[in-house]
Amino acid sequence: MSLFKNKKVLGLTSALVLASMLVGCGGTTPSTSTEDIENNTPEEQVLETDVVVIGAGGAGLASALEVRNAGKEAIILEKMPVVGGNTLRATGGLNAAETSVQSELGIEDSKDKFYEDTMKGGHDKNIPELVKTLTQNAADAVEWLIDLGGDFTNVGRLGGASNDRAHRPEGGDPVGPEVVSTLRTVLEDKGMEVMTNTTATEVLSEDGVVTGVVAEDEEGNELTILADAVIISTGGFGANSEMQVEYNSELEGFGTTNHPGATGDGIKMALELGAGLTQIKEIQTHPTTLPNDGYMITEAVRGNGALLINRDGERFIDEIETRDVVSEAILSQENGTAFLFFNQEIADSLGAIDGYIKRGLTVEGETIEELAETLEIPADKITETVEKYNGFVAAGEDTDFNRADMPRSIEGGKYYAIQVTPSVHHTMGGLTINTDAQVLTEDGEVIEGLFAAGEVVGGVHGGNRLGGNALADIVVFGRIAGQNAAK
Ligand SMILES: Cc1cc2nc3c(=O)[nH]c(=O)nc-3n(C[C@H](O)[C@H](O)[C@H](O)COP(=O)(O)OP(=O)(O)OC[C@H]3O[C@@H](n4cnc5c(N)ncnc54)[C@H](O)[C@@H]3O)c2cc1C
Repeated sequence: MSLFKNKKVLGLTSALVLASMLVGCGGTTPSTSTEDIENNTPEEQVLETDVVVIGAGGAGLASALEVRNAGKEAIILEKMPVVGGNTLRATGGLNAAETSVQSELGIEDSKDKFYEDTMKGGHDKNIPELVKTLTQNAADAVEWLIDLGGDFTNVGRLGGASNDRAHRPEGGDPVGPEVVSTLRTVLEDKGMEVMTNTTATEVLSEDGVVTGVVAEDEEGNELTILADAVIISTGGFGANSEMQVEYNSELEGFGTTNHPGATGDGIKMALELGAGLTQIKEIQTHPTTLPNDGYMITEAVRGNGALLINRDGERFIDEIETRDVVSEAILSQENGTAFLFFNQEIADSLGAIDGYIKRGLTVEGETIEELAETLEIPADKITETVEKYNGFVAAGEDTDFNRADMPRSIEGGKYYAIQVTPSVHHTMGGLTINTDAQVLTEDGEVIEGLFAAGEVVGGVHGGNRLGGNALADIVVFGRIAGQNAAK
């Protein structure tokens, strides 16, 4: 619901309603003069608070909560009708090493190994200090979410990880909705609401110091919010193909896995203040998305044992290689597509797969022959591929593609396939920040009062983001941004 609905007709009432509703958003003070109210002039739409958070995905919600935990007030703006952004779509997991959950499951992992995997996965292009902050604090982020009531008891492995460290709810259910609902519930318990359908259009500054934000509701009514600090947590630009092509022309014509609000607004607003950009050309495609609409099939399907086969019924890549490598391998197959192939045991191991089956995204067969007929692939070729792979599982070594983790053999039906192709998935480049989540200019100077966290930031993931690292990123840096903005 818009908070400034009917403002033009309500006059005094609208200002009072606005003021009273925003108390629920965190105790704000409308700087509205009686004269302004009576005249119903545009100036009446001015509010004051400690911190404005732009964007209510995981990074924004985590930062707003930390602002409140530090005893300060925040107004949270969200341009979409619903809260959650891309975070709500996240499925596979949240990476963290040395968590209490891993230790209960007997998984021996280390923060150092997590750091090494992340740097290697990002082709060593990542900014080392940011990766250190990420990998050292991700376990705390998981414990924090658990303390807030979240369920992260299932741990699996995603591409490029040398260990099982992708945390998600019991049964392998999608992780993003758990992160969003955990944070949102606590925020609501604290009386903090999100102003949905409200788009930030400009970050204000005076003499190089940030002073607030201008926003607009769905009817075009304008609101100015004065604040001591602003946190940009608007996510990436995975749904803005024009901006993607501007930075990387090879992405012309690609679909996207992203929600429609991922349009790069935060980057554009911060550029107006002289913010620097880090590795803006680095844009990730996700290898396994539906060819017609970019809907993403989580990497955890491969992590839990699925194979990738081509139209000859053959494997062609280590399925759990990094996303850039697997994407390229799929694009070089006939039609630029391939099939995810798995059986009932793999389907039962991951809650997300049940969702895919119920939504009719899979092709099914009681036997390999039945499935092969539908796929128009020779059945004996698929059988040969599966038998060879099962041999690798038994021997503990994949001599064809060197797949390191083969959690189970594929024996017994039903059998399932999903046709997949790569789509734009994550914009790894973005605003330049330091480890305190302060936004820096091109020259490396701090822009006073301006913070950023989440996918809007560049440098954490380098040339390739590992699956599970974005959710760790948004919670770790979201918290840091909130704590520092509150200071
Ligand atoms: C399909 C899918 C699956 C994924 N799975 C995983 C996974 O399993 N593990 C993992 O680690 N990562 C995963 N990711 C990546 C991860 O979800 C995102 O990188 C992360 O959630 C981004 O969080 P964020 O808070 O930075 O941005 P978002 O969650 O996108 O939130 C940003 C919010 O800001 C709002 N906004 C934008 N502009 C404005 C404006 N001008 N004014 C007000 N509001 C604005 C947006 O509408 C949005 O709600 C996945 C991504 C997708 C698309």
